[in-house]
Amino acid sequence: MLSSSVPCLVPSSHSPSSLLLNLKSTKTLKDLRQLHSLAIKTGQIHNPLTAAEALRISALSNPPDLQYARKLFDQMPEPNLFSYNTLIRAFSESDDNPLEALQIFLQLLHYEPLQPNRYTFPSILKACARIKGYEHGRQIHCLIVKLGIAHDGFVFTNLVRMYSVCGLMDDAQSLVRKSSFLSGNEAGIVLNNILIDGYFRLRMIREAREVFETMSNRTVVSWNGMISNLVEIGLFKEAIDIFHRMQVEGMKPNYVTLVSVLPAISRIGALELGKWVHLYAERSGIVVDDILGSALVDMYSKCGNIEKAIQVFEGLPKGSPITWNALISGLAMHGQARQALKYFKAMEQASVSPSDVTFIGILNACSHAGFVCEGRNYFDIMVKGYGLRPRLEHYGCLVDMLGRAGRIEEAVEIVKKMPVKPDDVIYKALLSACMLHENSELGAWAANKLVELAPYDSGCYVLLSNLYASMGDWEAVANVRLKMKELDIRKDPGCSWITVDGIVHEFVVEDDTHPRATEIKSMLEEMADKLRSEGYVPDTRGVLVNIDEEEKESAVLHHSEKIALSFGLISTNPGVSLQIVKNLRICADCHESIKLASKIYGRRIIVRDRIRFHHFEDGFCSCNNYW
Ligand code: ZN
Ligand code: ZN
Repeated sequence: MLSSSVPCLVPSSHSPSSLLLNLKSTKTLKDLRQLHSLAIKTGQIHNPLTAAEALRISALSNPPDLQYARKLFDQMPEPNLFSYNTLIRAFSESDDNPLEALQIFLQLLHYEPLQPNRYTFPSILKACARIKGYEHGRQIHCLIVKLGIAHDGFVFTNLVRMYSVCGLMDDAQSLVRKSSFLSGNEAGIVLNNILIDGYFRLRMIREAREVFETMSNRTVVSWNGMISNLVEIGLFKEAIDIFHRMQVEGMKPNYVTLVSVLPAISRIGALELGKWVHLYAERSGIVVDDILGSALVDMYSKCGNIEKAIQVFEGLPKGSPITWNALISGLAMHGQARQALKYFKAMEQASVSPSDVTFIGILNACSHAGFVCEGRNYFDIMVKGYGLRPRLEHYGCLVDMLGRAGRIEEAVEIVKKMPVKPDDVIYKALLSACMLHENSELGAWAANKLVELAPYDSGCYVLLSNLYASMGDWEAVANVRLKMKELDIRKDPGCSWITVDGIVHEFVVEDDTHPRATEIKSMLEEMADKLRSEGYVPDTRGVLVNIDEEEKESAVLHHSEKIALSFGLISTNPGVSLQIVKNLRICADCHESIKLASKIYGRRIIVRDRIRFHHFEDGFCSCNNYW
């Protein structure tokens, strides 16, 4: 008999209809199992309707029990098309086993009395897309045509999506060109959005743009798709341009738009625009939940305004770790290790379990502040206290922290003993530490490991070359450069952004393409003169080539952050603070120069490099030259 804990499920009579009714109102898999055993005992499992209903519930509940559903299915003597479709749909949407959907589909094809219908194909095409099985997809396409259902809107859309996800854009395009039979604008917009996503997945940006530009009716989904795809591949300025254009063309941004564009604003450091987005959310009644809120916290901290980030954080729901993570990482970036640790304590007190991302923030904070003992301690808390398995990133933080503090042997010890295979990031951290503390022997060891691991990464060769250059071994430098040429590896261009009057200006190294290039150039020269009279000597260790000293000086003078600074100085009023974002780590020479420039020109200059913030004021930097 059934246990007494679920009396409501015991049917008053065992008539087939009452059991079926009970099944239909079942909410949990546990209840389902009890009814199932009752159905077996009473023989009602042989009623096809009862079995099909039990299958539907186990396959489509959230989360489903697919093993159970499959078992029910296999026990059906003559499963109907509804049961086939149910199971195919459930497996096509499953995380771990979309291939199973194809197997059930094959079984259906071989089962004479039934034929797949318009409800079968969307799921099976989805499964093909998930496993990138375009060969199966093509055969299924033929079958769809043969069965005469290719003009079903739902089936057709899923065909286009299958080709697009599998990267067969020509097939997807040619189908879309034949889609005139679909009625209504809506369908065309959906198809074009699928094409745009497909082109972005293949990094075919020009083609994606072309589809977007030729769309007659774009919805907010189309705009959001462009923005999130551009952000995804790192074209931040382009994403922001689309965001601006969308408003010019009268399309209202929604919640998704804001969540998508904020990371681009953060990366470029466009604080004014970020503030505008925040205000827009408040004014248009868009709910600032933990996801949008965290994106805002991240934006304010990455745009240099950590006080505002804290303020936004205070007003957010704090039930999930993501809001805490955004703030802790932000504080780490600003070198405010004490504050980061304080919020970590508060997080624990609020009974929010830290995630592994939280500890990346904490370890970074300790690393930037030189809190080596605390950092090691938190690493232990993460593993022993919270049972989190450290990932490569955590070991990376640890190695970076020890390396910066000059404890290079300990860092090497960790690299040799860590249970996951160290990656190039870890060796890069180690190599940078070796250069900082002039340990050429371990440096060379790390450099060789690095080139082994990432033979096509320009960053590795630059570091290696810098190491040899700092040792004055010009022959080795020349060999590295030769190797780069052989493998056709180009240096990642340094790039800096500065926002003046709401407009983002982008500069690369030796950039002379700006409309005010001539003025910028004379400002650079004036700055170099003033710096020299303050006793500054160019630090050219970061310059790759064995050229004479004067040329090297000119090379460091034209780093993108110095060009951005000159532009900032000539285009703003005296005393206005300047904010520059650099995509790579700031070099020692730029750091020293900007420090002095902040004093000479009486400006507060904030530079965010790839790793952290530097607040320069009156000849000092907030990082205390520790970065
Ligand atoms: Zn520089
Ligand atoms: Zn600094």
